[in-house]
Amino acid sequence: MPMSTWTKETKTTLLYIVLAFAFSVAMRMVWLYQFSGYEPFYHNAQFMINTNDGYYFAEGARDILNGVHQENDLSALESAASQLTAFFAYILPFSFETVILFMPSVLSSLIVIPIILIAKNIDSLEMGFVAALLASITHSYYNRTMIGYYDTDMLNIVLPMFLLWSIIWAVRTNEDKYLLITALDILVYRWWYPQSYSLEFAFFGLILFYALVFDRKNLYNYKLLAIMMFAMVGLDGYVRAILVLGVFYIFKQKQFDRYIYYVLALSVALFFLSGGFDPIWSQLKNYVFKDAVSAGEKGLKLHFYSVMQTVREAGHISFETFANRISGHTVTFVLSVAGYIYLAYKHKVMLFGLPLIGLGFLAYVGGLRFTIYAVPVLAFGVAFLITQTAQFMPTSRLKFLAPLLLTILAIYPNIVHIQNYKVPTVFNADEVKILEQLKGKADREDYVVAWWDYGYPLRFYSDVKTLIDGGKHSGDVNFPVSFILTNPQDVAAKMARLDVEYTEKTFAFVKENKERVRDKNLTIFSNVEQMTKEYGFSDTNDFLLSLQTEIELPQKTRDIYFYLPIRMMDIYPTVEMFSNIDLMSGEMKKRSFFYMTKSFKQEGNSINLGQGVVFDLQAAMLSIGTQKVAVKRFVQTAYDKNMKLTKSMQMANPAGEVSIVYMSNYNTFLVLDEKAYNSLYIQLAVLEEYDKMLFEEVVLTPQAKVYRLKI
Ligand code: MN
Repeated sequence: MPMSTWTKETKTTLLYIVLAFAFSVAMRMVWLYQFSGYEPFYHNAQFMINTNDGYYFAEGARDILNGVHQENDLSALESAASQLTAFFAYILPFSFETVILFMPSVLSSLIVIPIILIAKNIDSLEMGFVAALLASITHSYYNRTMIGYYDTDMLNIVLPMFLLWSIIWAVRTNEDKYLLITALDILVYRWWYPQSYSLEFAFFGLILFYALVFDRKNLYNYKLLAIMMFAMVGLDGYVRAILVLGVFYIFKQKQFDRYIYYVLALSVALFFLSGGFDPIWSQLKNYVFKDAVSAGEKGLKLHFYSVMQTVREAGHISFETFANRISGHTVTFVLSVAGYIYLAYKHKVMLFGLPLIGLGFLAYVGGLRFTIYAVPVLAFGVAFLITQTAQFMPTSRLKFLAPLLLTILAIYPNIVHIQNYKVPTVFNADEVKILEQLKGKADREDYVVAWWDYGYPLRFYSDVKTLIDGGKHSGDVNFPVSFILTNPQDVAAKMARLDVEYTEKTFAFVKENKERVRDKNLTIFSNVEQMTKEYGFSDTNDFLLSLQTEIELPQKTRDIYFYLPIRMMDIYPTVEMFSNIDLMSGEMKKRSFFYMTKSFKQEGNSINLGQGVVFDLQAAMLSIGTQKVAVKRFVQTAYDKNMKLTKSMQMANPAGEVSIVYMSNYNTFLVLDEKAYNSLYIQLAVLEEYDKMLFEEVVLTPQAKVYRLKI
């Protein structure tokens, strides 16, 4: 329609959307501005991303654009985020790095559209504008959608907010078009984020409740429920799209109205028959049976250390953190909750936002990441209170100024947060250089052994295969990698060859038995269990001991590299946990002694290493609290001007229990027992003391060391 026929309301709506969108994007440029010119954060003349998982989608997008990928490389070709990225990178005149850097800022800022449109429905555009300004930059929403936070979060709240908008408009107007928009939104949301079913379900349940209790005779509600259900059945996205369009066509014809209940019944039946309920069921099972140490179903019933154990502690949050993340400030949060209750009392449709609030409040039990769901709906709460104050103002000037001032007050803590939130990029420029060198040497079919934190970035920058990554890091796959990194070189080398070959073998086996695996007729045993059995053992401990002897290794099918960054030192004790367990009994073994410090000071003939650890240089003794242990060796490392590692070693007491390593260029002291000292990681990454029969150096820099396995 021509511009002149636009109503004043449409113009205002558009103006508010454009302003709020620009505000949201602009606030996300603060990080860019703060770090502009800071070389370690740049690669290919662009900032790198600041979320690890982003490299998963980046790898997928790269492979889509190149049109090639390797079998079993775990590349995310099927993920929506990768597909959308590849599309943008293809049509836009920007570099790939620029696209993935800016995508979160731009897409997440779209949240202002449903927020303002929802408010329009209850004739309070101003409330929508205030809510949009606030929600778009509130702590947790900002943290997970800031520039460079390249992850599915960039649309994870936008899409359910559009869903909420279309549901509200559907219920309010009963217009046919909202049936279609609601269903299409579900299709897109599910494509983008397959775990979206829980929210879709909550919305479905709420509408069902509303229909049965308040509006039982209205056929439109059942049309809405049926078309939503067809969008949610457990079939391929294209099939669901066709179903939705077909059902929409039927619903448009008045003469079919008497069959609506049958259509609804059919959709529910199809939902159960197509396995639509399965993800919910397995989710429930996960919550009910989640256990720290998980036992296998059949076979040896090995006990692996679960990643849940290391993550779980992060789950508990204080009320203040919770409130800050949802509203930016405790006061704003309390006002938001009160305001939302008042708003819902005045406008019942706003109750449809409850599933999002509910999911956000799950943060109390499920961890921080859930808070973002509650952000936009609760923002309506405080925005409603703010715009209501205008009514009590005596003059038109105050009617404008009071809400303005209150809005600034509500937004302010979030702006302060943004200014202080200086997260680093995942990798720094020097590390990426190493990975690119590795890319030049390694074949795409080769494996790189590294802790899971480096899995996705390794695959993106080096285009290699990895054993574990940000998504594949359960106890059974972490075990061999942990074992390799924290055990002596000879057994580590054998385990590396074994684990890589068994990994590929298992991929092939699963592919050959696709149907049986899908129908759960076949248990896929962990690599370690397969090795144990195939080497003729019934006890995994015996098999692991046998690695110290001459065993016949599987046929070598490809090269194996080791990526050992110095920064892994911080997590060494955690890495060790995963293999420091008796797999047969599930009992944790005694942890090796590993103490690292950057704060120390010389006191006479001793060096105080902090935490009650004192190194007596003269006596070559170490006191740990009241305990005294003899020092076996003292090693000092340094880089010469060619960046080559030099080291000096003094044997102190051959019977000593701990070794002390002073890494002078890193300003770091290490105190290690024999197990830690002899581990592959310490020997190769810290001391470059590698067995020339087993390893070959590839890239050695102060940031990281890369070796190639020779067996
Ligand atoms: Mn690849």
